[in-house]
Amino acid sequence: MKRIGLLTSGGDAPGMNAAIRAVVRTAIYYGMEVYGIERGYAGLIEDTMYEMQMRSVSDIVQRGGTKLRTARCLEMLTADGQKQAVSTLEKHGIEGLVVIGGDGSFRGAKCLTENYGIPTIGIPGTIDNDLEYTDYTLGFDTAVNTCLDIINKLRDTMTSHERISVVEVMGRHCGDIALYAGITSGAEIIVVPEIAYDMEDIVMRINRSRANGKRSNIIVIAEGVMGADAFVKQLQEVTTYSVRATTIGHIQRGGSPSMADRMLAAQFGNKAVRLLKDGIGNRVVGIRKNEIIDMDIIEAVSMKKKFNYELYETLQMISM
Ligand code: ATP
Repeated sequence: MKRIGLLTSGGDAPGMNAAIRAVVRTAIYYGMEVYGIERGYAGLIEDTMYEMQMRSVSDIVQRGGTKLRTARCLEMLTADGQKQAVSTLEKHGIEGLVVIGGDGSFRGAKCLTENYGIPTIGIPGTIDNDLEYTDYTLGFDTAVNTCLDIINKLRDTMTSHERISVVEVMGRHCGDIALYAGITSGAEIIVVPEIAYDMEDIVMRINRSRANGKRSNIIVIAEGVMGADAFVKQLQEVTTYSVRATTIGHIQRGGSPSMADRMLAAQFGNKAVRLLKDGIGNRVVGIRKNEIIDMDIIEAVSMKKKFNYELYETLQMISM
């Protein structure tokens, strides 16, 4: 394979730039050309791309966001849009495509592969960590670290005023950001879409912690359950403690990627290009038990994300 395309799609995630760098540099190492497609599938349909050089990816390893920009593109869901995308690839002689994004972006890549025979490789770039086939997605670690930073600060003020803080984090339908941020920040309670919450039990846990000498409480709620304001309204009706809502919002998506995310980006990007170089397409890359893996894209997108109940139980035991 001599010429490949590269795009970032769906929600941006810290580490996407580091992955772009790894793809471009690895491809150049192997004597391949890389076309950077701007704004995800929208750019593929509209033919906005440029050839990337060694220096096109200088000074981006540490930056959040994505140099190639990203978009959600409804046209890609239609047969006409997909045909247009394929004709852009053909026009430029692009033989394979690397897609950095979440499960929606992978479905787009799967379409190109299944219906038009374009070899594609997916790199999991989303803060949500909602893909079952990989232990971690690019951006998740940084997003959780950003949440930790904010929760640490909230704890200071909540303890001074003896309040309860309800902190809303992202994750769409997945509770992983809440679970990991909750367990590593020392939050007493997490509320996630995967487990129905019981307000009586929450109040009992808060009262028990106060009886044990605790002067504040942190509740981390995943956006997939409800907003922090709505939850505070419900909680304030059944407790006399003062409750405050914080929504972390898009801050979670920005910022310099952590070491863990930069490392994943380097390994994912490198692996993606090595697969295409060997003529292997229709795969996604990931990490399982600390090993970089690849698997069939169709199989990967059909796997249902499982919640880590063991970690949830751990939190219940150690956060009181
Ligand atoms: P994140 O998890 O961060 O939101 P994502 O990749 O899941 O990222 P989506 O908005 O679901 O984000 O998908 C990104 C884009 O992928 C869509 O805007 C669309 O262009 C394309 N896409 C999604 N689903 C399909 C599909 N079934 N067929 C073709 N293309 C799709």
